[in-house]
Amino acid sequence: MKLGKYSMGIGDRFGFQGNYQLQAFEKALAEGIEITPVWNKSNREHILVHTVPEDVRREADEATARRNWQRDYFVDADHINNSNVEKFIGASDFFTLDVADFIGKAVPEKDSTAFVSSFKKYAGQLSVPGIPRPFEISEKTLHEIAGKYLFAIQEAGAIYQTIENKKGSDSFVAEVSMDEVADPQTPIELFFIMGALSMEKVRFSTIAPKFTGRFNKGVDYAGDIKAFARDFEEDILVIDFATKEFDLSPGLKLSVHSGSDKFSIYPEMARIIRKHDKGIHLKTAGTTWLEEVTGLAMAGGEALVLAKGIYARAYERREDLCAPYASVIDIHADRLPGPATVAGWSGEKFANSLRHIPGHPDFNPDLRQLIHVGYKIAAEYGDVYRNAVKSNADLVGKQVYENLFERHIRRIFL
Ligand SMILES: [Zn+2]
Repeated sequence: MKLGKYSMGIGDRFGFQGNYQLQAFEKALAEGIEITPVWNKSNREHILVHTVPEDVRREADEATARRNWQRDYFVDADHINNSNVEKFIGASDFFTLDVADFIGKAVPEKDSTAFVSSFKKYAGQLSVPGIPRPFEISEKTLHEIAGKYLFAIQEAGAIYQTIENKKGSDSFVAEVSMDEVADPQTPIELFFIMGALSMEKVRFSTIAPKFTGRFNKGVDYAGDIKAFARDFEEDILVIDFATKEFDLSPGLKLSVHSGSDKFSIYPEMARIIRKHDKGIHLKTAGTTWLEEVTGLAMAGGEALVLAKGIYARAYERREDLCAPYASVIDIHADRLPGPATVAGWSGEKFANSLRHIPGHPDFNPDLRQLIHVGYKIAAEYGDVYRNAVKSNADLVGKQVYENLFERHIRRIFL
């Protein structure tokens, strides 16, 4: 199975917005750019929202049928590993093999020796077309890369094998992700990781490294934009080189697990993929549900009361809600308005505080991040939340569409 040049991972925690998300892809197509929608949901999200992979499949199939979408689309088993892949096999045709937890684990000496001897021919000065300075590679470098990544690569091989045994080859797309870690992988590490993945017989279409800087959930990039751009461009050039050296999938491309809304690096990404005429997979995670809360706030009345209620509960339970996301959020508790203050807000003030328009005087990134990790609260509201979203479907859906098209697709792809 082949993934198109441009694709986007889209999350939808509660499964109501497929139709509105797809409208953004239709609009892009009408403007001449085909982007493949990939509905993604991780195991953790399924557990917290009480859904199963078949729900995502149904949403994607229904939205595409209803809107008569004739192009490709996928359902992504996001961030899965060998302990939970089974339940995703039937419903998914895109698998994000997350091996971040296996980085740094020891492999038998014979395995790392074999790794080093396979790649010894690259020792010395390694020149990658397009990158001005050559990389210095020694046997020690190769040993270090094996020590750091080989166990994780073998794990990717094992997960891939599980999927291939069940689904058969060529009936799914695989991505290898290593993004949820503290240290970025260097472009040269990425080169040898891809070589070793090929030896493990992992046919992957996308690879998601950890980039330099912080990718906090739902808010802008925090870090050195120039350093990001350099890494991003070198990664793209290294992927090109590795594709030829290791006979990898044609069209293999970089995947950016953005955590959503990395607006300040979008222009760099757009410039670099255009410069080299390369594809990209942009995963935007779960801010769709923040558009639901924005729409509820704008609807006023009971829906606004509900939006405020979600915030108040999230505020009270902020320590518990934030704990699992510690490495991907930065909330300044002193900048969070108290629930009593928020209770007095108009729907417009609430929506403007939450909606991600960085220069807007009311925008509050701390509030946005807190609500982002508070989807568990909405899940606890159960039918109250679901019915409110359904009753305000058009207004909510408009937020979803505009966010995806205007703030994301337009900035990268058009
Ligand atoms: Zn990720």
